[in-house]
Amino acid sequence: MIRTMTLLALVISGCVVDAFSQEATIGVERLADNVYLFTHNAHRSLFIVSDHAVLATDPQSVEAAPRYVEEIRKITRAPIRYLVYSHHHDDHVSGGAAFGDGVTILAHQGVLEHVRDAIEPPGITFAEETSVFLSDLEVRLIYPGPSETESNIVVYVPERRVAFMVDAVGVRVVPWRNLAGSSPHAWVAALERLDALDFDILAPGHGPTGRKEHVREYIDYMNALIGAVQKGIDAGQSLEQMQASLELADYQDWTRYDEHFDLNVEGVYRELSK
Ligand SMILES: [Zn+2]
Repeated sequence: MIRTMTLLALVISGCVVDAFSQEATIGVERLADNVYLFTHNAHRSLFIVSDHAVLATDPQSVEAAPRYVEEIRKITRAPIRYLVYSHHHDDHVSGGAAFGDGVTILAHQGVLEHVRDAIEPPGITFAEETSVFLSDLEVRLIYPGPSETESNIVVYVPERRVAFMVDAVGVRVVPWRNLAGSSPHAWVAALERLDALDFDILAPGHGPTGRKEHVREYIDYMNALIGAVQKGIDAGQSLEQMQASLELADYQDWTRYDEHFDLNVEGVYRELSK
């Protein structure tokens, strides 16, 4: 139930002003009891509410964060006690100041070295795993090892069977561009840890919400990509030769395949040929 907070084009004395480019698409989707997903344009953040406290993830940006707080306020008046960063990229974790001084910010320790500009520093960091309990509802924060970056975590609500992970997984969408300089083997290992959790609903930071089986599909894509690039390297092919000839027919209908597949090949090639 995405609501578009948009005035349609305004016609002012014959000249058309397109308001669409100015106004953000805001939405809140209920995923399970206590568990919601906030959307601001292309970015999504999970939040979990109880009678006495709210845990929000990813403030997103200076622009999005106040709208996010407003949307939470439509659901509950309980104080927002915790803000959890999914990883360190500033298009997901800027704007935390809108949540006020009373909020405790948690993140994987890998976020610390990237704090700058509009990113509020986390007051609590962890290396492997930690849990926050909202009354008796557990929110488990798990570092599955490096994936898209060295700070991406899984936000897991076991009793509601929901897992949230940003940028490292999606629903039938290929990874962004050239995989951000990450190790593809480590990335797959992190997704295997996500897949080992017991849940039903997969909530990514972009694109549609999915089911647990979408994690396996994503792992299958990564393994097919790694296998194909490795085969090309073993046969003495250059990156350009691979980009000209390689295709993965099973994934051609995935979002961004046409745009980013060659870049995915480049990212994997760079890592495997090191
Ligand atoms: Zn992102």
